Amino acid sequence: MRPRRAAFARLAAHPAMPRPIQATIHARALQHNLERVRESAPDARVWAVVKANAYGHGIERVFDALRGADGFAFIDLAEGQRLRALGWRGPLLLLEGVFEPRDLELCSRLNIWHAVHCDAQIDWLGQHKTHAPHRVFLKMNSGMNRLGFPPERYRAAWARLDALPQVDEISLMTHFSDADTARGIAHQLAVFTEATRDLPGERSVCNSAAILRHGHEDGARLDWVRAGVMLYGASPDHPGHSASDWRLQPAMTLSSRILGVQQLRAGDTVGYGSRFTADAAMRIGIVACGYADGYPRHCGTGTPVLVDGVRTRTLGRVSMDMLCVDLTPVPQAGIGSAVTLWGRAANGQWLSIDEVAQAGGTIGYELMCALAQRVPVVVDGQ
Ligand SMILES: *Cc1c(COP(=O)(O)O)cnc(C)c1O
Repeated sequence: MRPRRAAFARLAAHPAMPRPIQATIHARALQHNLERVRESAPDARVWAVVKANAYGHGIERVFDALRGADGFAFIDLAEGQRLRALGWRGPLLLLEGVFEPRDLELCSRLNIWHAVHCDAQIDWLGQHKTHAPHRVFLKMNSGMNRLGFPPERYRAAWARLDALPQVDEISLMTHFSDADTARGIAHQLAVFTEATRDLPGERSVCNSAAILRHGHEDGARLDWVRAGVMLYGASPDHPGHSASDWRLQPAMTLSSRILGVQQLRAGDTVGYGSRFTADAAMRIGIVACGYADGYPRHCGTGTPVLVDGVRTRTLGRVSMDMLCVDLTPVPQAGIGSAVTLWGRAANGQWLSIDEVAQAGGTIGYELMCALAQRVPVVVDGQ
């Protein structure tokens, strides 16, 4: 080995310290939120929805905390493979069904139940040489106008499936467009109930917003509920209700540290585009977190943030690797001080992901799903 190589080898034994940014997944919060689903829908079985890699939390990281669910629902067959690899032997549901005929092979082999929302999927099933008969969730378009058979064609689709030797059980499902708004679910539930009146089979209609807002209503909970965002501790109808109104706990914390401090004078500006101008002398902190970590660039001046567990605000534009915060309410803060972008601070204070999302003109769902690959993630409470 040449001397230079030896030096590099020694360096490799001392890996670089990561940037101070980190995401923490709170296993206890996931368990608590699953309990909240059970409380809100006591007689239903629960699909834990883990699409989009468990809404950005990581399927492998949430699995232990959520294994008390009755099944896992997702969009991508690879997510089902990962759940089987983790040892899950219970129900799995592919929420949009298969994307091409050969996907049916994996559904057979891994016993993955799948949605059927269009005639092409029924054609594929009819041509499939299956090992084991399939359980399917026949999807109705009851008003969302995304996927599913319209009510007047639902019965014919059911009859086609019922006639196939490849199918051994048909369940019935639909999805609500307005469970989180004043329009509510009654109009779609009426369509679904009427069009499925004398069809046999288990039924599934509720997402998080429907579970929390309409779970007590007659005929809404049915056999299976599909809980997504509430498991992760965000509110499905913020700002109408916050996560704490629904007694949900944040399952993800995004935290970092201050890596620089500036003393501003009146008239000084901050960051790209000089979007913030100080009207008096003030101290600001520069945080190791930017849009390349998944923090939304749309969050302008005034987005809430915690420094040492104290609520303050961001200033100016978010850049790729940094953002700036007002240290006025935390005069003792300096380089190395802890910053909570969302989730829980060490002093027990918390900042909901929904509030940060709102400041960026979006919803908590989008922020958690967009956590960037470069952010190291740890699981707390296993
Ligand atoms: C994502 C999804 C859900 C879960 O929705 P949340 O609002 O996160 O609870 C339920 N059902 C279907 C079909 C979905 O695609």
